[in-house]
Amino acid sequence: MENVLEIQDLTVAFDGFKAVDNVNTSVEKGEIHFFIGPNGAGKTTLLDAICGRVKPKSGNILFAGGVDVTHYSENQIVNIGIGRKFQVPSVFTGLTVYDNMELAAVKDRSLSSSLFHNVTSEQEELIGHVLNTIGLYEKKDRDAGSLAHGEKQWLEIGMLMAQQPKLMLLDEPVAGMGRVETQKTGELLKTIAKNCTIIVVEHDMEFVRDYASKVTVLHEGMVLDEGSMSEVQHNQKVIEVYLGR
Ligand code: ADP
Repeated sequence: MENVLEIQDLTVAFDGFKAVDNVNTSVEKGEIHFFIGPNGAGKTTLLDAICGRVKPKSGNILFAGGVDVTHYSENQIVNIGIGRKFQVPSVFTGLTVYDNMELAAVKDRSLSSSLFHNVTSEQEELIGHVLNTIGLYEKKDRDAGSLAHGEKQWLEIGMLMAQQPKLMLLDEPVAGMGRVETQKTGELLKTIAKNCTIIVVEHDMEFVRDYASKVTVLHEGMVLDEGSMSEVQHNQKVIEVYLGR
């Protein structure tokens, strides 16, 4: 299988403290790949390093067949096709669901105000398709601020989809959701994974069990285990530091 992402000997340090400590892992095309582990394990810092928010002390991040993106800026990372969604939904309230999608679909943000309401027919088609996929087509004229928590998360995932990334990074996308919404999100991820690889940081182990292709368990900045969920959940060390708690 083709690797979309390869992380080699990656270390990220804050004032000498190694939040990510010599991590090696790879993410295959089409995977829904989860990073799990206790609080402070380094999951968010690893996402931050991939998306250019923090600079690694050493190691490499290779994307899409070997492009070295280790020292790319956040903008360069977005432009090469890596999209990031943060834990707290950050849709633009006061704008409609559709307008939020338009803003996301127009890639050059510096031009976005002048291009507003002037999307191409292809972009319009893409927005319609994404709105259907995330189940918000019927609510496209609603103020994004009026959506329920789960719907805001889906809108934000839709905004990432509108940018057509090759890799999506999601930080706890089902936090605060009930079982039904969680399951809907899982099915949405499965649909997205047909065209785009996904990395998810997650604490909801039922969700991970149901939707993971592969799981990387982090502990104290290091990879403790890696494999399918059924493999890692029987690892005694993983049970001790995380799953057995
Ligand atoms: P996780 O996402 O697994 O909970 P984090 O990546 O947020 O873990 O944090 C890993 C470790 O790095 C923690 O001990 C945290 O306190 C520390 N850390 C994270 N960001 C910073 C920062 N900007 N400055 C100093 N320490 C940080």
